[in-house]
Amino acid sequence: MAKVLLVLYPDPVNGYPTFPKDYARDTVPALTDYPNGQTLPTPEAIDFTPGELLGSVSGELGLRKYLEAAGHELVVISDKDGADSDFDRELVDADVIISQPFWPAYLTPERIETAKNLKIAITAGIGSDHVDLKAANEHGITVAEVTYSNSLAVAEHTVMQVLVLVRDFVRQHQIAVEGGWNIAEAVERSYDLEGMDVGIFAAGRIGRAVIERLAPFGVHLHYTDRFRLPAEYEEKYNLVFHENIEALVKNIDVLTVHAPLTDETAGLLNAELLSTMRRGAYIVNPARGAIADRDAIVNALESGQLAGYAGDVWAPQPAPADHPWRTMPNNAMTTHTSGTSLPAQAKYAAGTREILEDFFAGRALRPEYLIVEGGTYAGTGAHSYAKQAQPAR
Ligand code: NDP
Repeated sequence: MAKVLLVLYPDPVNGYPTFPKDYARDTVPALTDYPNGQTLPTPEAIDFTPGELLGSVSGELGLRKYLEAAGHELVVISDKDGADSDFDRELVDADVIISQPFWPAYLTPERIETAKNLKIAITAGIGSDHVDLKAANEHGITVAEVTYSNSLAVAEHTVMQVLVLVRDFVRQHQIAVEGGWNIAEAVERSYDLEGMDVGIFAAGRIGRAVIERLAPFGVHLHYTDRFRLPAEYEEKYNLVFHENIEALVKNIDVLTVHAPLTDETAGLLNAELLSTMRRGAYIVNPARGAIADRDAIVNALESGQLAGYAGDVWAPQPAPADHPWRTMPNNAMTTHTSGTSLPAQAKYAAGTREILEDFFAGRALRPEYLIVEGGTYAGTGAHSYAKQAQPAR
């Protein structure tokens, strides 16, 4: 019998909804494959209805029935930070820890030291930078995530935030809600995306999906990545490749950020880099908050060097109530929701179950789900995380 510790975000303040009565829709589309042909998660069964709220405490990622039937103990908590958190108390004898990047259970070296039984840390979602991978390697802990599960959800959110910033939706909506009708005021910062230069930093699963979704807007697309995309792909989308982010940002009006948080990317969007962008550029960052320098972003918005910043991610999470990104001018921030839409939750909950089934059966995990295994970076992790930044606390 194993102890499975599940760290999830709190339930809605008005209580956990019943399905389907309290939901906006009765169903979500049924999908089988991702665009690269990888199949969606294939657990033996699921005990939830796709479209249900699974990522909060009462949703339990739909895992309780399965785990308890198999004789395991499931402990679900939300309190994860501070010296005397439930997380600190419960992790000491946990065999499995699961958390989502939206509400990351920061597995620091100190915590890993106290988690003597820990065998696997599962990210229900994508991005395992909240786990100190070096310490996980040293302790032989497997780290796995549900690769691709919410990449397209994030790409959609990115496109939304690009349009929200460029067209200045937030201000216009506010005027409508407040009963106003001053059109001049509503459009004084409103532009068309058409014809703009858009730069994609990191053309992985999300970056490429953003390219494909933005192309029909009549934009000029640029990108940088460690490796160049195939020539036919570049031709199809008329992509301009830049050797590095420094070269990229000088040539664009909108930057979207899709790299993992590693030692190479931490703090990359700093004052110096921002000063080289066109005045009035926009940045959309759904990757990780720590890729941007907090105060440099605020200063660039206040000076007008940036015309807008829309991020979905913060460091740490949850962000404190007085975090300056909540109130800085011309922001369209969201609270790390892009990858946890209801359909995305169904995908990564099913993927988490698939990983657990394989883990308990002693079967190999899908290589694309692996980040760290047997004391070394493996699968997706060997590609993405060999240089990892320290987790924010
Ligand atoms: P992928 O692994 O498919 O893509 C990551 C890309 O980043 C790869 O193309 C990789 O390059 C590139 N890359 C890594 N380091 C660098 C670097 N130093 N410079 C340039 N390019 C780099 O992951 P996804 O697209 O699925 O996700 C990307 C990130 O988005 C995740 O790591 C996560 O942090 C974040 N994310 C956020 C979510 C949210 O809810 N907001 C949900 C899901 C992910 P290459 O392969 O060529 O080596």
